[in-house]
Amino acid sequence: MTHPALETTAPPAARDAAAIWWSARVKDAGFASTDDFEKAHALPRYRFAQIYRAATKDLSDSFDRISVLPTELRATLSKTLSLSSVKLEREATSKDGQTTKFLFALVDGKEIEAVLMRHAGGRTTACISSQAGCALKCDFCATGQGGFFRHMSALEIFDQAVFVARRARSENLPLTNLVFMGMGEPFLNYDAVMDAVALLNHGEGFNLGARHITISTAGVVPGIERFSREGVQINLAISLHAPDDEMRTKLMPINKKWPIATLMKAVRGYVAATNRKVFYEYLMLAGVNDRIEDAKQLADLLGGPLHHVNLIPYNATDAPFSRSQPATMRRFQEVLRMRGVPSTIRHTMGDDIAAACGQLRVETQPKTISAAAPV
Ligand code: SAH
Repeated sequence: MTHPALETTAPPAARDAAAIWWSARVKDAGFASTDDFEKAHALPRYRFAQIYRAATKDLSDSFDRISVLPTELRATLSKTLSLSSVKLEREATSKDGQTTKFLFALVDGKEIEAVLMRHAGGRTTACISSQAGCALKCDFCATGQGGFFRHMSALEIFDQAVFVARRARSENLPLTNLVFMGMGEPFLNYDAVMDAVALLNHGEGFNLGARHITISTAGVVPGIERFSREGVQINLAISLHAPDDEMRTKLMPINKKWPIATLMKAVRGYVAATNRKVFYEYLMLAGVNDRIEDAKQLADLLGGPLHHVNLIPYNATDAPFSRSQPATMRRFQEVLRMRGVPSTIRHTMGDDIAAACGQLRVETQPKTISAAAPV
């Protein structure tokens, strides 16, 4: 049942970040290879390292600002090469100033989103997308409601992080964490995601430590199995959202393909192989999955060490769900605690700017039936 995207084997550590960056950049500019680009511009080799460093470590967004390059070369490169594959279309900042959501256009006009979260206590997190749209159609998710458009390239994925980090840096906030919790299913675009991780991780470039990166999956079992063998310290989060198959299949159609027992077997395999803690995302939907019985069943399912549950308040979408009451969430957490399952109730960020997965893009799309449409 292996997905074609899951078949190549190089782990992120073995992926040459600068080469990934350069070959994608020159291809976007219409060159077949870095060699062709080098010849066309009579560019000495060491310039490649300088430019890569300026763009990924110093976060320069324009050749004009790369002062190690001669002025003439800066002018030539500005005309032939772009330093970003994502273009900002819109942004919105929550009233409390903690969350900024960015809507980007890719070169073909597809729209994707990223979020910057400024946490109290100094942490700054980027939330980025891995696909334009998503094929998984989770009931509660705005991205799924919009459908799947295409995979993002490693460079497109990485460029969102560069953009968000640049914004954070302009506010004197170093980016400390990054989560793949924007649009798309990272494990259905496995290789591009791992290439992006190699870029994020690269000591001579973006230099974000693996332990500060989290990949969240809706439960693509072959992806979890392959990830278990990567030998990286990246965190894994599983979007579980329901403790039994009937409920989970209703909420997340992917559960038909990889039901809970299969998913949990893969997750246990991951814990055994890596000795790393697994995070579970559990969206709290009033009257759906927030009963005491659900908490008990969830605790039974997880058991054992190295598990942590994040209880997430639902952000409203077009779906007919509502958020669980805070008291219900606390009671649910208490049941988990009594059964030895550690959990955190997530603080909602960016409610007022539609910061849940896929929501900003949905706002810019014409509605299927629009009352304001001209007749
Ligand atoms: N496909 C991946 C990553 C993208 S979704 C996954 O499923 O994990 C990132 C997280 O946002 C998931 O846990 C997802 O369930 C959650 N999410 C989706 N819609 C949401 C909403 N309306 N409110 C709150 N969280 C939501």
